[in-house]
Amino acid sequence: MKPEKALIFELSQPGRVAYSLPECDVPDIEPASVIPQSMLRETPASLPEVYEVDVIRHYTELSRRNFGIDNGFYPLGSCTMKYNPKINEDVARLPGFAKIHPYQPEESIQGALELLYTLQNDLAALSGMDQVTLQPAAGAHGEWSGLMLIRAYHESRGEKRTKVIVPDSSHGTNPASATVAGYETVTIPSNARGLVDLDQLRAAVGSDTAALMLTNPNTLGLFEQQIEEIAQIIHDAGGLLYYDGANSNAIMGITRPGDMGFDVVHLNLHKTMSTPHGGGGPGAGPVGVKSRLIPFLPKPVVGRREDGTYYWDTDRPDSIGRVKAYYGNFGILVRAYTYIRTYGPEGLRQVSENAVLNANYMLKRLAPHFEVPYPGVCKHEFVLSGKRLKEYGVRTLDVAKRLLDFGYHPPTVYFPLNVEECIMIEPTETESKETLDAFIDTMIQIAREAESDPQLVLNAPYTTIVKRLDEATAARKPVLNCSC
Ligand SMILES: *Cc1c(COP(=O)(O)O)cnc(C)c1O
Repeated sequence: MKPEKALIFELSQPGRVAYSLPECDVPDIEPASVIPQSMLRETPASLPEVYEVDVIRHYTELSRRNFGIDNGFYPLGSCTMKYNPKINEDVARLPGFAKIHPYQPEESIQGALELLYTLQNDLAALSGMDQVTLQPAAGAHGEWSGLMLIRAYHESRGEKRTKVIVPDSSHGTNPASATVAGYETVTIPSNARGLVDLDQLRAAVGSDTAALMLTNPNTLGLFEQQIEEIAQIIHDAGGLLYYDGANSNAIMGITRPGDMGFDVVHLNLHKTMSTPHGGGGPGAGPVGVKSRLIPFLPKPVVGRREDGTYYWDTDRPDSIGRVKAYYGNFGILVRAYTYIRTYGPEGLRQVSENAVLNANYMLKRLAPHFEVPYPGVCKHEFVLSGKRLKEYGVRTLDVAKRLLDFGYHPPTVYFPLNVEECIMIEPTETESKETLDAFIDTMIQIAREAESDPQLVLNAPYTTIVKRLDEATAARKPVLNCSC
């Protein structure tokens, strides 16, 4: 057996330092002369005193316990975990982008403004919208911003509409954003094929409908073929169509929400456009609108003068105002711009074609081993149901835990809510056939283990630092304030 390394928890020793700084050339100031008495510290902060090597080892060790797209396959449905090309990082680190300041005068940041202006236009062209704001910092933030635009639009016409309709397969952020934007959500059940049920939709729509929030392909990975009729129903009632474009991986260069009849769309650059995702890092959820909503866009947007110079367009009297400090997560926008330029229109179309191909390949190979609630061709992702394994006492959660032993991040589980024991897989276009096959073989192996040795699956994972957690106790006796 491998000997256990003795764990030393307390690395701090008085007097050890991990830095050397030049002598301070600022004259000593008595803290009490500049800091209010009530804010003065009475005892020195107890910071760890360690050597540089201790700090490096500590953080390197922690980083090795993490999982990311750079160390393994991450087939998380609905959240597009695709490879983040390193050229994006190189460009974002160019001093002309990395070292500018939001308060700099316009003349000194013309290149950055040109980049933002071009990105606004690229995203508008990709989504079929007329104008885009880059301010929102995440998908959910984009949804809320888009709904505030919808509210401003209806109010400008003297209409008070109170309801937002969402299908039962919708992403949880949709009803949440609608609620935060002050709307009542109305959930409509999907039909037997996993699509919007037009009769249910007709029954739910009325003069109080502000919008329908939808994604197409939907969260089951299925394309809403009746989208034009859906748009007609909503528009006839005076409502607007909101497109949740968090994952546009299936449609780039093939079809556009604007052409399907949508009025407002948000895009997640940290999904589709390959910018880093997860770990709480910054994201970007730009929002595009059709022309009748342009006056309400958050300000400023980037404008271009006739002489070719760029400027912050703040003269927008009907704007809903700012939705974020400064101008959005600029470094992320640079990465997304780089991604779009690297691929170009043809390349982006190929990205989508390969994403759809990969998903269908996996679906075909996995179908005999799991249940497929909505058979047929999928788009960039698909759902399976693990309910067949329940007869052996194994649930989807157990399959997900067992995958950890093989070095995979599990797919999304138990979402969408309308599929029992749901497993939602999105391979993305950036994975090789060998990676897809290895993952598929592992899934098949786990399904066999569930039949022949369910306990093996129920006790997983075995190879991770944290083993199976006691979920019942965690739910019944949660420790929410850990001072350990
Ligand atoms: C990820 C996602 C969102 C939310 O995006 P965040 O950036 O996590 O706020 C919304 N809708 C769908 C379909 C998503 O997959």
